[in-house]
Amino acid sequence: MSTEVQGGYRGRIAPSPTGYLHLGHGRTFWIAWERARKAGGTVVLRNDDLDRDRVRTEFITGFIEDLKWLGVEWDEGPDRGGPHRPYSQSERMSHYAAALSRLRDLGWVYPCTCSRREILASLSAPHAGDEEPVYAGHCRGRRMEDLKWGTRFSWRFRVPDGEAIEFEDGFAGRVRYEAGRDFGDFVVWRHDGVPAYQLACVVDDALMRITEVVRGEDLLLSTARQILLYRALGWSVPRFCHCPLVRDAQGQRLAKRHASLSLRELRAAGKQPEEVRALWGAS
Ligand code: ZN
Repeated sequence: MSTEVQGGYRGRIAPSPTGYLHLGHGRTFWIAWERARKAGGTVVLRNDDLDRDRVRTEFITGFIEDLKWLGVEWDEGPDRGGPHRPYSQSERMSHYAAALSRLRDLGWVYPCTCSRREILASLSAPHAGDEEPVYAGHCRGRRMEDLKWGTRFSWRFRVPDGEAIEFEDGFAGRVRYEAGRDFGDFVVWRHDGVPAYQLACVVDDALMRITEVVRGEDLLLSTARQILLYRALGWSVPRFCHCPLVRDAQGQRLAKRHASLSLRELRAAGKQPEEVRALWGAS
């Protein structure tokens, strides 16, 4: 890969070490890497390890091995270092905390005492089928001063109801969502002190100077939320390319339960990386 040119393309690959990579991850990461390579750019490997209960070290060494086997390369990452280190989210808490305090100062977030499943789920990216319902606004008017000492609360971002969030996606074309209808106020910081996926992702993509985010199309709605965070924090928004998802023979999105389609299993079954790439039509 070429050395970074000022203002050049910077892409990223952001696996979560909560399972082994499957064919769908492989394809998305391959596309991300190819786009960066064609642009003569730089690729960052980021370890999205905030979900303490589900993260396992063998999945970290696993994604590094599996990506290398597949032929995906990166210039900066937890195993290689780089100018924006650390590259593991669990080591970047001070950055997330600074962003939260800015959102607080600017009045974008409010303390939410609802202890719903969606708050627990906010740690990981909402992939197909696990989008949270639009938040009913129960805590919208709440201020810190109103809370009794010791009350557990999360920080929720207030979306501009009725506003259209639009962007031009590199693969999906023009995308338009309405805040308050397609998605509602979302959690940016959990009551147990852990930043939610939406905030951590924006902070890292911005601070690591990512110019283009390539990821699965089930994150389109997350992109609308993230655009609001970029705006609120005064950061420029990267370009987005959302890849169509790989589905199984029944039309189901691939998930961790499709163990036989993990890159590991395919490799163990004697498949060559180019045969795996041929499965999704890459050279
Ligand atoms: Zn609430």
